[in-house]
Amino acid sequence: MPRRKQSKRFEALHKARWTARTGSSTAVTSTSSTIITDNDDRNEELDDVTATPKRETQSDSDGTMEVTPIHFQKYDPDFNLDTPEGRNSGELPNSNSIFLGQVSQMCKFIDQINLSSKCATPLCHGKLKLVCVSMIGQQGCVTLQYDCTGCAERRVTFESSIKHETENCTAVGLALQVAFICSGAMYSQYAKVLKNALGMYCAGKSIYYKTLALMYPHVKGILNDMCEQAKESMKQKNDSELGSFKNAVTCGDAAWLTRGYHSQNATYTLRNYQTGGLLYYKHFSQRGKDDITGEELFEGTSKSAEGFGAEWVFKKAVTDEMNISIHVQDNDSTSSKALLSNFPNCRIILCSGHIARNHEKRLKTLAKQKFKKKSQVKKYEKTHPGIATVKCHCMKDDIGCFTNGFIKAARINFSAIVKSVGCDQQAFIDRLRSLAKYHAKNVHEWDGEKCFFHDLTVCDCGKCKKSDITCQGKPYKTKNILSCPFHSLAYEIACEAVIDKSKQIIHEDLEPKI
Ligand SMILES: [Zn+2]
Ligand SMILES: [Zn+2]
Ligand SMILES: [Zn+2]
Ligand SMILES: [Zn+2]
Ligand SMILES: [Zn+2]
Repeated sequence: MPRRKQSKRFEALHKARWTARTGSSTAVTSTSSTIITDNDDRNEELDDVTATPKRETQSDSDGTMEVTPIHFQKYDPDFNLDTPEGRNSGELPNSNSIFLGQVSQMCKFIDQINLSSKCATPLCHGKLKLVCVSMIGQQGCVTLQYDCTGCAERRVTFESSIKHETENCTAVGLALQVAFICSGAMYSQYAKVLKNALGMYCAGKSIYYKTLALMYPHVKGILNDMCEQAKESMKQKNDSELGSFKNAVTCGDAAWLTRGYHSQNATYTLRNYQTGGLLYYKHFSQRGKDDITGEELFEGTSKSAEGFGAEWVFKKAVTDEMNISIHVQDNDSTSSKALLSNFPNCRIILCSGHIARNHEKRLKTLAKQKFKKKSQVKKYEKTHPGIATVKCHCMKDDIGCFTNGFIKAARINFSAIVKSVGCDQQAFIDRLRSLAKYHAKNVHEWDGEKCFFHDLTVCDCGKCKKSDITCQGKPYKTKNILSCPFHSLAYEIACEAVIDKSKQIIHEDLEPKI
C-alpha cells in the first residue's frame, strides 16, 4: 500500500475530535489539570505537581512583584535575547508538528516575554509567574499556567498537546503510544522506557491497551489491503504462468510470539513465494479478556495452532478460487495435511533453510557419538555395508572430527549447493554426494571428476585475486578434514538422508530462495 494511503488512515484517528484550550489571554481554567479520576482508567502517575520555579523575588516600592528571571544572562551563559541568525519566514510546515521539549525551556521562554513586554491591564506592572504545572492524565505532556503578579486579569496557559474531547488522552501522548505499539512494545516496555529511563509521566496500563484497541481496526485494514494487493498482482498474470493466482507458488509457516511451541499467541501466514507478498493470515490467542478482535480464544494447544491455522487459510484460498501448484514449507505434517486436503494436486517443496537447520542438528548429535549403535548398523548395512566394520578413531579426547567449524562449514556448503544448482535435481544429488564422499576427506579429484566448489590450485601468497592466480600456488586443502572412518561414513549417511528428499527440495521449474 502506498505510504500516503496509510498515513490517511491514521489521520482518521485525529478526526476533528481534538481541542486546544490555549491561546487566550483571558482566564482559562484547565479542568483536566486538577481532576484526578479514580476509575479504572486512572493514569499511573504521581500526585499533581504544583511548582514554582526558583526566582529571586523582591517587593517593589509600588507593591508589584519584581521578577528576575533565573535564566537571565547574568546567571545563565547560554541565555541570549538576541534574535538568532538564519531566521526563516516563521511559517509552520504543519501546525500539528510535534517537537520534544522540557519544562525549563518553556520557563525560559516566558522569562523572555517578561523582559520584553508588559501586562495589558492599565497601570499594572506585574509579570507572568508560573502558578501551576500539571502532568496528570496527559501521557507525558504538560500544562503550564501563568498568572500576572499584579492583577487578576492576565492568566495564560500553555498546553504542550491538544486533548481529545471525550477520550482522556492527549494527541502527543497518543502518538507516543502508537509508536511504541507499532514497534512491538507491550505496556511494561513502554512504561520502563518513559518512567524509568526518561523519568517521564506515562499512560496507565488500561489506557495503553485502549490505544491498542483503537489501532486494531486500522492496522487490520492495512494488513487486509496488503493481502488484497498481493492477490491482485497475481491475478494480473496469465493463468498458465507459474506464480499466477490459478497457478500459485506459496510458502507458509506458523510463528509464535515467543520462540518455541509454548507461546499463547501464534500466527499462520501464507505468502507468495516468489514475491514475498502476504496473501492470508490467521492469528490465534489463548489468553485475554477484552474482546478487541471479535474472535474467540483458541482452545487447542500451542503446537496444534499451526495445523488449525493452515486449515483455515487454505479453506479461505479455496473459497477465493485460488489454486496452489507448489507450496514451500517446513516439514510440519499437520500443515501439509491441511494443504493436501484442500489442494490435492499441490506439490510440497521443503524449505531448504529448514533442511539446512535439521542437517546441522543431526551432525551435532553425531558429533557426540563415540560408538555406533546396533540400530544404526541394522538400518544402514544394506546401503552402506562398511558400517559393520568401521570404528571411531577421533573421539579419544572428546573432540572428534565433527568440530564446530566442520558443522558450520557443512551447513554453509549445503546451502551453497542448493543455491548453485538452481532447478537441477541431479546436480544437487551429485554435488552433495561428492562433498561427503570426497571433498570432506580432502580428496578433490576422483575417477576423472573433480570438485565443483573450488579450483584444484589456490593462491599461496595471499595477494592474488581468486580469478587470477599469478604466484606458484598450492594444492587446495579442505579446512576441516574428516579422517575418522566412522564419522566420515556418518557424514555420508547424513548427506544421503538429505539426498533422499531432493525431489522435495529442488523443483524443476522453481529457482530456490535462501
Ligand atoms: Zn514592540
Ligand atoms: Zn497584570
Ligand atoms: Zn570419529
Ligand atoms: Zn574439494
Ligand atoms: Zn598468490
